[in-house]
Order: sequence, then structure tokens, then C-alpha cells
Amino acid sequence: MPGHGPTDRVPEPADGPSWHDRAGARMDPGQGEVRLPRELMLEIYGHARECHPEECCGVVVGRPDPAGWRAVRCSNVQNARRAQGDSDLDARHAFWIDERELLEALKRAEGRGEQLRAIYHSHVDTAAYLSHEDLRGALGANGQPQWPGTAQIVVSVWEDGVRGAGWFAWDDAGERYRGRPIASD
Ligand SMILES: [Zn+2]
Repeated sequence: MPGHGPTDRVPEPADGPSWHDRAGARMDPGQGEVRLPRELMLEIYGHARECHPEECCGVVVGRPDPAGWRAVRCSNVQNARRAQGDSDLDARHAFWIDERELLEALKRAEGRGEQLRAIYHSHVDTAAYLSHEDLRGALGANGQPQWPGTAQIVVSVWEDGVRGAGWFAWDDAGERYRGRPIASD
């Protein structure tokens, strides 16, 4: 694919980064950072690096206190969806969590008295934002989150490593996702 590899990156146009058009929700710099445990983020970042140049995905489960949150890796079955004609996008540009693995992770979490806190995925060689495709996956037919009270974490991963991550939480009043950068302790 032209312009996709790390050695032939297209410079950002003068009127703004090219990904802005693909963003359904961006990080709002005025909102401040979300602090999450270092161990949790290292696990997610490691997963993102291992899957590069494809998107990784998984869930974060835990009790209300983020100190005990854990990441559960899931398989990105987007290539299979594309092969079946369910999507035009491959795993480098989209993710779809293996539904069997998702249900298994939720069942195990429930058994420990934990809840789903976030769904995470990576963006390859681009910024951390929610794409329109991501929004379609996160929202139900009624335009509300399929998993109420669950945030979306997006990690920006490049050939040389992770360059940032965003925490996108649903804003009930504004009826949209609001993004904040993630900082890890
Ligand atoms: Zn995405």
C-alpha cells in the first residue's frame, strides 16, 4: 500500500494532520491526563508493539480501583471479517475482538467480582483517536455505547514503539466520546 510503510511516510499537510478526517473523536488537550497503573499500560503497550504492523485489541477488567486493573489480550479477527466480506478494512486499519474470547474474558472477570473497564486497541503508524469505524464498533444502533461505563483506550504504535495513548470516555450530556491522554505512574 503506497505511503503506508515507515520509510515512505507522507508528511502531514500544512492544514493539519491527515488523520483528522478519519477521526470521530480526538483527544482534548484541555481535559488533563488520565493516570493509569504503569504495569497495566506496559502490558498493553507490549501487546501493541508485538502486533505491529497490525492493530492489537483486548479488554481491561477490574474492580473500581484502577490499581488492580488487568489487561486481557484478545485476538484481532479483522482479517477474517474482511475475507468474509463483512468489512473493507484489514487488521492494519481496524480491529474486531474475537467474540468468543471476549465472552470468556468477561465470564472470568465476573467470577472474580470484576467488571469490564475499557476496551483497548492500537493504531498503527498514526495517532491515538477514535475513528468513525471505531465509533461504529463502540456504539449500538441507538447511538449509545454498547458497553455503558466502559472506556475506549487507543494506543499510537509506530515501528519504533509507542508514542502515546488516549482514554475515550462517553460523555452522557454531550452524547459523544471525550478523549484524554493517558499517563502511567
Ligand atoms: Zn481505531
